[in-house]
Formats: sequence, structure tokens, C-alpha cells
Amino acid sequence: MKLPNYVSGEWKEGAGAGEPLVDPVTGEELARISSQEIGVAGALEFARSHGGAALRQQTYRERAEMLGKVAEVMTANRDEYFRISLLNSGATQADASFDVDGAIYTMKYYAKIGKALGESKMLKEGGVLSLSKTGEFAAQHFLAPSKGAAVFINAFNFPAWGLCEKAAPALLSGVPILAKPASATAWLTHRIVEDIVKAGILPAGTISILCGSARDLLDHVSESDIVSFTGSADTAMRIRGHENILRRSVRVNVEADSINSAILGPDAAPGTEIFDSFVKEVVREMTLKAGQKCTAIRRVLVPRQQFQAVGEAIAARLSSTKVGNPRNPEVKVGPVVNKTQQAACFEGLRRLKQESEVVFGGDEKFQPIEADVQRSSFVQPTLLACKNGLDAKYVHDVEVFGPAATLVAYDSLENLIAIARRGLGSLVVSVFSNDPGFVQNVVLGIGDLHGRILVVDSSVGNQHTGHGNVVPSCLHGGPGRAGGGEELAGLRALLLYHRRFVVQGPSGRLAELAGLSADTSLFYS
Ligand code: NAP
Repeated sequence: MKLPNYVSGEWKEGAGAGEPLVDPVTGEELARISSQEIGVAGALEFARSHGGAALRQQTYRERAEMLGKVAEVMTANRDEYFRISLLNSGATQADASFDVDGAIYTMKYYAKIGKALGESKMLKEGGVLSLSKTGEFAAQHFLAPSKGAAVFINAFNFPAWGLCEKAAPALLSGVPILAKPASATAWLTHRIVEDIVKAGILPAGTISILCGSARDLLDHVSESDIVSFTGSADTAMRIRGHENILRRSVRVNVEADSINSAILGPDAAPGTEIFDSFVKEVVREMTLKAGQKCTAIRRVLVPRQQFQAVGEAIAARLSSTKVGNPRNPEVKVGPVVNKTQQAACFEGLRRLKQESEVVFGGDEKFQPIEADVQRSSFVQPTLLACKNGLDAKYVHDVEVFGPAATLVAYDSLENLIAIARRGLGSLVVSVFSNDPGFVQNVVLGIGDLHGRILVVDSSVGNQHTGHGNVVPSCLHGGPGRAGGGEELAGLRALLLYHRRFVVQGPSGRLAELAGLSADTSLFYS
């Protein structure tokens, strides 16, 4: 079976033999994909001229309603998405839910908040600014939907959520989308797009999918388009530095890899509720989706006096966690996505071991439950320990994209802040402590280098949304190494798909000149 691409409003099979998609447990081939000879220049032009034009005829409320229908279609096909996640990603039920249910929730969220933007087709930003003594001459800022296409180049670990967290704000904004999922897990994204197309909810040209290598895609993006990338820092650099992107100043949003941390406060001793909740969260982050989450905890920063106790507590939980074929309902940790990722994890762990000791796991010959070691792509959950955080290099730099984390001891607040900052910019850090002074110092010390800070104390208990859980109402993205991009954060996400301009002119007619009725929603003040 070769999965066809959907471009210019029709399904087209790529040329050649294509690349295989495999089951990471059995190693069996599931399908093939090819983007060869697809003609992306024409696909983008069709999206801009047909999809964009049709979307911009609609109001925000109408587009929000469309998102609601997309969510309904996805909900109806949820079981099939779980089946594909199991086959192509080796996902357990919990892993598949994180991706698929997260995708549906995000779609529903934007369907809901989009309605509040009402019947307008463009947005005012802020109020009227007087520019003259009498106030007759004034200015108004506006946000208009870009007349280009949104190109999504996504990572393999979130084939459903990765599509929807970008598609929902883009479509709500009135911008057509072309999705290029990561090759390894393109099947699920393909199936979602197929379901949406079949349901006939979106106008022609509004949604396209290219499965396989990006090839010359970036040669054809224009100044009106938006490239939203999620993946590794190395690929991000290549995309940012692409000649056409640079020459035409194409807007690029990057969500890249990140060495996220979890911090245990000095007040949290073994036996306390906060200590247990910290250990539980670290293990959850290491094991959910076999650690293949951009937000996963990679560095576990603990006071030196608790170094051993935390290591023992995490190791105890890991030792009772079943790893293997996700078809077995007792299994909590499945494989990584393929042999290439497995080899990359082993290579990363070898480097980390140069400056850390193994507390748990780390066996490359580890035998998973009900899986053939030769054919499958498992990585044993592995906890390492690094006693001298500031002397270490790899701990702050090497992202093992699998079920692995490193414990790092800290000696003082200053030492902790210096260690955390060595991540050079992360998506998320979590702080577990009942000492408000300590938490405040940490937030002030590292907040500028983190997109999100999760604070857990006893008053929050187990009500927090989780270190690795990205909620659509809050910002997702981080500075520096994390890519410097910004996604979600409710309606703020729409900014990426709009262009800001200001009209200076007769004060009473500014909105009318921009083609708006007086009651247009105020979006951003
Ligand atoms: P990747 O190798 O960088 O690939 C990401 C995407 O870029 C894929 O669709 C890939 O296509 C495409 N690509 C590769 N080279 C390209 C080029 N020269 N031009 C245009 N597109 C190109 O990343 P991955 O291995 O799929 O994903 C894992 C990484 O993503 C991890 O490092 C993880 O931390 C990061 N991630 C970050 C976030 C976040 O929100 N910050 C979320 C999830 C994952 P092919 O697959 O066809 O090569």
C-alpha cells in the first residue's frame, strides 16, 4: 500500500518505490510513502488561490464552527487512530491517548474560543491612537489573515497533536494548510487528513498533505506563507538558513528539541508528599511515549543531600514498570519509533555515560516483553546520575529522545540556577517545593530561559496538568535551544497567521477604510 498525497484538491501517488513505514515492535512494513514528482509549487499555489480565498470569505465564527466539525470527525474515528498509533508508533493506549485525545481537545478548544471573535474577517488591535491636536487624524492597528499558505513540517512523535495544534489556529485565522508530517509516522496524519477530506467540511485547497521527504518544498514558499517547524535543532537550522526563506523573509516558527529540567526544592525530604509527587512525575515523563516528548524531563536537579534517595526512589518505580510489546495490556513502555532512533538513543546514552553513572537501566541488550530484540526498537528506561553538574557537558546538551534522564546534584540556589541555565533555553521546567521564597528565586533566576514553569506545592497536590502536558490555553515554545518559537497560548496563536498593519487617516473612518464594520472584535489590546 502506497499512501497518496493530497494536493491541489486531489489524491496523487508519488513516483518511485517510496519509503517504508514500519511497525517498531515487529519490524514489519506497514505502508509506503513518496513525495516524488508531486509538484509542490502547484500545490502551494492552489492552496493560496483556492483554499485561502475561500477561507477568507468566511467569518471567524464560521471557521470556528468548521473546526468543531473537524473535531467531531476525529472523535468518530478515534479507535482507528489508536490502531494506527499502535502499529506505526508502537504506542500504548496511554501514549496514543496523549497524542490523539490531545489533538481532538485542541481542535475543540479553538472551535470554542474562535466563536468569540464573531462575524468579522479581520481584527482590530488596540484602540484608536490620536496623531493630531484636534484628534481628526489618527491611527488604528489591524491584524489581517495572511494571504499565503501555512506549511507545517512536523516531528514523528506527535502525528495527530502536531497537526492539530498548528492546523486549528491557522484555519481559524483563515489560512490554508499544507502538512508535511515526519516520514516515520506519516500514516496517522495521513488518515486524519483523509477523514477530514472525506467529510467535505473544508473548502477545496484548504488542506493538503505531502508524505515523504520535503524535497524542494522550501524553494516554493513565498513572503505570504508561514513555515511552522517542529523537530530537531539541526533541521531547524537548515530550514532557517534556507536561501529562499532568507531571501523572501518567509515567516518561520521553530519548536525544537530541548533539555528540560525538573527541580526538587531543598525542603522536600524523602517521605513527604511533595517528594513522592516529584518522583512520580519524573518517572511518568521518562516512560510516557517511551520518553519521546519534546517536553520530557531530561535533567532531574536535586539537592545533594537527596541525590541518593531520589535515585533509589526513581529506580524502584522503574524496576516495576513493564517494558515491551504494547499489545500486552500490562506494558507501560513501548518501543522508540524505529531502529534509527534506537541507535541515536544508544549513541546519546554512551556519551552521557562518559560523565555520569548508571543508576538504573542502560543495557543495550535488554529483553523487552513479547518482542524480538533483533527486529524491534526498544530502549531500556535509563536513569543516570551526574555529581558535578557544572563540569558536565553532554548532560546539558545531548537530548536522548527516549526513556532516559539524568539526575544532577546541586549545592545551593546559585549553583542550581547556573546548572539549569546550561540548558541554554528550554520548553519547560518544573519546580516541586513548599518553600515560596525558594520557588520565587528559581523563577526569577531561570524564567527568561524557559517557555513554561510548572510549580507544584502541597496546595496543588495532584491537580497539576503535568510537566510534559501542553495545554492549548497556555504558551508552548521556548527560547534559545528550544527554537525560539511560540505556539498556542489561546488566541495569541493567531498572531503567527495574521499580518499587522496600521492605517493612519481620518479618525472616524479608520475601521471603515480597512473594510470593517464598527463592531469588529477587539482581539489584542
Ligand atoms: P527531524 O529529524 O528534525 O525532522 C522533523 C521534520 O523535518 C520531519 O518532517 C522531517 O522530514 C523534516 N525535515 C528533515 N530535513 C528537512 C529539510 N532539510 N527540509 C525540510 N524538512 C526537513 O526531527 P524528528 O526526528 O522527526 O523529531 C524529533 C525531534 O523533534 C526531537 O529532537 C524533539 O525534541 C523535537 N520535537 C520538538 C517539539 C516541540 O514542540 N518543541 C515537539 C516534538 C518534537 P522526514 O521525516 O521526511 O525526514
